[in-house]
Amino acid sequence: MKKSQKIMIWFLLIIVIGGLFYPLLGYLVVGMMAFFLTLSYFKGRYWCWNYCPRGALLDGLISKVSFKKPLPKIFTKMWFRWLVFVVFISVFLLRIIHIGGDLFAIGAMFVSMCLITTIVAIVLGVSTKQRAWCAICPMGTLQDKMGKIFH
Ligand code: SF4
Repeated sequence: MKKSQKIMIWFLLIIVIGGLFYPLLGYLVVGMMAFFLTLSYFKGRYWCWNYCPRGALLDGLISKVSFKKPLPKIFTKMWFRWLVFVVFISVFLLRIIHIGGDLFAIGAMFVSMCLITTIVAIVLGVSTKQRAWCAICPMGTLQDKMGKIFH
């Protein structure tokens, strides 16, 4: 586990645990998204392997309890990655529309999406490979695309 990952793993705990008590911490997700989307323009998925808090959790902790089984074949299909992306973004947009302009509720939404995707990532990581979620993560797909479009 890299030194940068050891630091970043704390961000995940701050967001998914601290965010339950103080929803504005969810905006840390927005800050990270802005950062990694900019970074992906220059370095593709560099964020994923060095700084992503969830990736750090998967590498640092889940790798120790993972069954390390092959990925489900469907995870390697591009159409499936984009399907997950479209579903994720649709749910995100619907929730934003439903919430309206309430800043605390929007923060809480980021916290809950981070928490839910982290739980899914842990379940997948333990039952297959530690980074199984990263094969279909919508933010990873987006970084891949950004890196390829601009280079
Ligand atoms: S694919 Fe997603 S969860 Fe995995 S390291 Fe990248 S941004 Fe993080």
